[in-house]
Amino acid sequence: MQTEKIALLGSTGSIGIQALKVIAAHPDRFSVVVLTANNNADLLINQAKQFIPDTVVIGNKTHYKKVFDALNPLDIKVYAGEESIEQVVELPLCDTVLVALVGFSGVKPTLSALRNGKKIALANKESMVVAGEIITREAAIHRSIILPIDSEHSAIFQCLGGEYKNEIEKLIITGSGGPFRGMTSKMLKKVTPAQALQHPTWNMGQKITIDSATLMNKGLEAIEAKWFFGVEPSKIEILIHPQSIIHSLVQFRDGSIKAQLGLPNMKLPIAYALSYPERLYADDKRFDFNNYPQLTFEQPDIKTFRCLRLAFEAMKKGGNMPCILNAANEESVYAFLKEEIAFIHIAEIIEKSMEKINFETKITVENIIETDRQTRLYSNELITKIKKK
Ligand code: MG
Repeated sequence: MQTEKIALLGSTGSIGIQALKVIAAHPDRFSVVVLTANNNADLLINQAKQFIPDTVVIGNKTHYKKVFDALNPLDIKVYAGEESIEQVVELPLCDTVLVALVGFSGVKPTLSALRNGKKIALANKESMVVAGEIITREAAIHRSIILPIDSEHSAIFQCLGGEYKNEIEKLIITGSGGPFRGMTSKMLKKVTPAQALQHPTWNMGQKITIDSATLMNKGLEAIEAKWFFGVEPSKIEILIHPQSIIHSLVQFRDGSIKAQLGLPNMKLPIAYALSYPERLYADDKRFDFNNYPQLTFEQPDIKTFRCLRLAFEAMKKGGNMPCILNAANEESVYAFLKEEIAFIHIAEIIEKSMEKINFETKITVENIIETDRQTRLYSNELITKIKKK
């Protein structure tokens, strides 16, 4: 049997590292032909030495020489720059493109892979958030398959197995509530990046961990679900479930609800996206009901965690509003991580950006790039003003 040839975009991030563990566990099924990373040249070099891909790309061009010198003797092609990431996914050498890039940077490579008929395993939720309409349309035109890696969307996708043509009445996306669940607005004024990075149940990259603390992650996931599963915003709900065992649920029109459960472990949704419709053996720890006498549920506090409310507003508004939301969020999250602004400023900057930046109902690749640019400029003006205070 031929192995499935995988291009892994973002191999040195949290999802990339776990994807390589899945691939390494199934050498008869998968091989890595492309690895890309943005800044972490050392880890990229080590990964390439282990997996011997055909090609690697280092996003940050200043690391090119180091990567080239290390990998050229192994006959591995080395390229640099963001444009190269878009170009390598067009090559016939890969069957599947696993997009584990962070933020808006995932949009162009995802579109490029789709237009070349590749199967996509998508971990980059931001690309669906800002360009879901374009991505789903292009996937239909080019008959490319997009499989979700985000655990909630993988759960929903698994619940939809065998439900062909059965109408979805409701999608219920679960979330742990993050490290600040139960806090008041007053308490949130004083929280630090270090506290926000202490996620109670999932071990993830920095950007998504802050999004989990603000609940923006659930908002982005709602928008992602709208496009992945073609449902109206009014049919999407968020449910806080602190134990992170039920990964999401689907309710059908006869009232039946299906859920997918398991211990929180990203290797499962990664493997499922790569091997779908087959399930591969995994030797990870199993969930045991006896260790969890209680699974609990509560409503999200959207008054305190304003980012979630703003994301639902952006989803309902449509057009370029989710792009504005996303760009303002990315800029303010990075400013918060650098301790330039407080936690509560994140929602404030997003809200002001959504009011200020021109709203457009129709989106094209060109206008979302422009919306993204303008929003980042404006958000940084606001960040600078806050810093001066
Ligand atoms: Mg998720």
